[in-house]
Amino acid sequence: MSKRTLSIAAIPGDGIGPEVIDAGMEVLKAVAKRDGGFQIKSERFDWGSDRYLKKGDFLPDNALDTLRAFDAIFFGSAGDPRIPDHVTLWGLRLKICQSLDQYANVRPARLLPGIKGPLRDVTAKQLDWVIVRENSEGEYAGAGGRVHQGLPEEVGLDISVFTRNGVERIQRFAFELAKSRPRKKLTLVTKSNAQRHGMVFWDSVFERVKADYPDVETDKMLVDAMTTRMVLQPESIDTVVATNLHADVLSDLAAALTGSLGIAPTGNIRPEGDAPSMFEPIHGSAFDIMGKGIANPLGAFWSGAMLLENQGELAAAARLMQAIERVTGEGKHLPRDLGGKAGTKEVTDAVLEAIRTAND
Ligand code: ATP
Repeated sequence: MSKRTLSIAAIPGDGIGPEVIDAGMEVLKAVAKRDGGFQIKSERFDWGSDRYLKKGDFLPDNALDTLRAFDAIFFGSAGDPRIPDHVTLWGLRLKICQSLDQYANVRPARLLPGIKGPLRDVTAKQLDWVIVRENSEGEYAGAGGRVHQGLPEEVGLDISVFTRNGVERIQRFAFELAKSRPRKKLTLVTKSNAQRHGMVFWDSVFERVKADYPDVETDKMLVDAMTTRMVLQPESIDTVVATNLHADVLSDLAAALTGSLGIAPTGNIRPEGDAPSMFEPIHGSAFDIMGKGIANPLGAFWSGAMLLENQGELAAAARLMQAIERVTGEGKHLPRDLGGKAGTKEVTDAVLEAIRTAND
């Protein structure tokens, strides 16, 4: 029987993106080889800020059609000090996520073995969350404008957009995910005390969707109170669903609470599977450490494990996670942001070795 070929479009992007994505592809290929059941075919696309500065666009015109032909996308980061952040974000990452309608952004946050987070006495069992971020509309809908530019009466407007379809599909996705986890618990994050239109609508859709999931325990938190709860009662949280902006903020906090921004993964999921999903580390381009060989590649590796899981390669995904956890647990090859001394290559080599020597 011929082996399945998993096709991956690698878009390393800016800053440390190429360092961690190239390491990530090496690790993904190693785990596919070790697993034996499938092979990986990848193509690397040099799309990003350097291209924008040379040609005036981050992606070629046919980029989205090109991407549609792949099973999955592995993305590094977008951001460059020479270009305003909103131009980069909208020109590259959001363009891909929104055009392919990857509406569910999934962000696991877990304390890995051997990693000490900043919260005293919190164990791995007490900090094991998944944050589901609405990824297609809300505060990032792009609606708004600038009026009277340059005049004293200038106005800037950003309008949040919540559609019934958009809200319902992300909440159902979060309920399904919560249902699949042992604790079957879902927290809705909101700000409906102050935002009395879109957020009240967001809450009311939740009340209706909830009726279809009687086995999932739910609660509701204002986003400000949620930050406190994440720090003071992490064990009370399991699965979380929040709007595009709220989840963006909460997931950076979650990443810090699990040790470092450098370790956190994310998936931009197209649940219907009619377009590829995109996996990326949460961190950005980190220009301050670019080219120094010290970027932590573990967030990219964990994102790679999510990619494999999304593609149904469950054994390989588990093997890769075990290899990451063996390296963090042993503590001999930790990157600097996690308190160690290892560079990107040493961390990568340690994970490759853990993949090669894993017992079945
Ligand atoms: P962007 O504008 O693209 O979001 P940024 O540099 O403002 O990028 P991040 O890259 O998210 O923000 O990270 C902030 C800081 O955290 C970096 O300056 C860097 O020092 C550190 N950091 C982020 N990712 C890593 C990593 N993978 N390894 C080590 N340090 C990291």
